[in-house]
Amino acid sequence: MITTNYLVIGSGVAGLTFSIKIAERFPNRNVVIVTKSDEDESNTKYAQGGVAVVLDTETDSFNKHIEDTLIAGDGLCDESVVEMVIKEGPKRLEELMFWGANFDLDQSGNLDLGKEGGHSESRVVHHKDITGFEIERALLNRIHQLTSITILPNHFAIDLITNHQIKHIKDEVLNCFGAYVLDQKTGRIFTVKADNTLLASGGIGCVYGHTTNPIIATGDGVAMAYRAKAKIKDMEFIQFHPTSLYEEKGESSFLISEAVRGFGAYLRNKKGFRFMPDYDERAELASRDIVSQSIDNELKKSGDTHVFLDCTHLDLSAFKNHFPNIYEKCLEHHIDIEKDWIPVVPASHYLCGGIVVDKEGKTSISNLFACGECTRTGLHGANRLASNSLLEALVYAHNIFKYHSTNNDKSPKIKIPDWNDIGTIIPQEHILIQHNLKQLQALMRDYVGIVRSNKRLKRATKHLDLIYNEVEDFYKESKITTSLCELRNMINVAHLIISQSLERTENKGGYYNIDNVK
Ligand SMILES: Cc1cc2nc3c(=O)[nH]c(=O)nc-3n(C[C@H](O)[C@H](O)[C@H](O)COP(=O)(O)OP(=O)(O)OC[C@H]3O[C@@H](n4cnc5c(N)ncnc54)[C@H](O)[C@@H]3O)c2cc1C
Repeated sequence: MITTNYLVIGSGVAGLTFSIKIAERFPNRNVVIVTKSDEDESNTKYAQGGVAVVLDTETDSFNKHIEDTLIAGDGLCDESVVEMVIKEGPKRLEELMFWGANFDLDQSGNLDLGKEGGHSESRVVHHKDITGFEIERALLNRIHQLTSITILPNHFAIDLITNHQIKHIKDEVLNCFGAYVLDQKTGRIFTVKADNTLLASGGIGCVYGHTTNPIIATGDGVAMAYRAKAKIKDMEFIQFHPTSLYEEKGESSFLISEAVRGFGAYLRNKKGFRFMPDYDERAELASRDIVSQSIDNELKKSGDTHVFLDCTHLDLSAFKNHFPNIYEKCLEHHIDIEKDWIPVVPASHYLCGGIVVDKEGKTSISNLFACGECTRTGLHGANRLASNSLLEALVYAHNIFKYHSTNNDKSPKIKIPDWNDIGTIIPQEHILIQHNLKQLQALMRDYVGIVRSNKRLKRATKHLDLIYNEVEDFYKESKITTSLCELRNMINVAHLIISQSLERTENKGGYYNIDNVK
């Protein structure tokens, strides 16, 4: 058993930022970070566009950024949260730069500000088209300098420990005492007993086969919190990124950043028609939900598998300079953007809802905090404005830190039972896991995609029940493996998305159900 002051689950921008802040201010408090892959593997690492922050107060203003965020959120944002996050932005960015993150400068030496879909002004701070990679690099570098932080890569958090596991606790209030963790290299499961636990476990993209997210994005934190009976909300609001590189084999795919459309690229259908001006006066710069739904409509009308992003009219050397990674990736796929159009398709990208937290990152369970993409803060409402998520993680990591600066909460002295896997066997039938996973992803893609209907959602519920029962039976008899736990988590997440979709009777932001059209 490990005992610690803070258990942090996840090593993306949310988990690392919080850990650094605590360790810098309170070197006597211990932080243990568990992360299920390499320490840098995360959605954060793949963020391309950047961080939306108001820096140029001559043409831009907090009010404009607030307004853009509220428009994208389609009436469901918490306005006080929006204001708080946006006004905190510049301070949090400064801190990130202080820890060594480098961002591109313009010709006069000021931070270069990009423009993205849904933003009325240029305000996206970036590092070429690998902003997340640079942020992750800088944060990990700082983490390694702080001796009170222990980071455990290849360690998978299986479940939170709450009153449920501790029989003699009669407390009315639900408490979190840490988590059971699997050492993925040795197969050993041990207890991490923590005064405070932070879920910073990122997104859910892999629930849909076609996603811009890396394979770690299996919604573990949301599922763990749900099983522990924390409040989860707004799961119907899945943001689909309009333009991921189309590859025939499908699955995890490369993102062609919003910023490429901001740079002037056009969306065309197979016939070469530039269709976006017919859907929205902002054309290619309309918010993501509108662009995704428009592409979905074009594909449904034509039966095509993808549309195209046309960059052939753009300045090639400026493009290469802004988007070297995208340029190279296209070349690897034999796409020369000077003369070829890039085949693109929408893919699941971002979870707007998640674990409900207040402004201090507190969940509905005592001593359990959550930060980053796994949370529902009220910032995004029904749809996230591009590049507001890294910002949200930075601001909430700071707020949770601030809470702990004035509250040194301690866990009660209780005995936590060890993980019990008596009677379970090592699963030999990996094909069962693979098959159920494929079924789940097909179900989510076909019945719970960009455009939904009650009929499809109800059918999804029935099919999911079958998969759930098969996997639960398998889980009860098997020794824990990462892939089995991830599948179980994705089933929980799918259940939340489907059931919360069925509860929504009005289309908002990223949510579109044909039965809600009056
Ligand atoms: C391709 C792409 C481009 C993007 N571009 C932008 C952008 O330009 N601007 C922007 O603001 N946002 C962007 N986003 C979104 C943004 O990157 C994420 O929302 C943000 O980085 C999430 O940070 P996080 O710390 O919450 O989660 P992550 O960075 O995903 O980190 C989650 C961590 O938790 C770990 N983990 C998960 N489950 C477990 C478990 N069971 N046990 C142990 N560890 C676990 C993971 O391994 C990982 O380390 C982009 C996302 C993608 C995928």
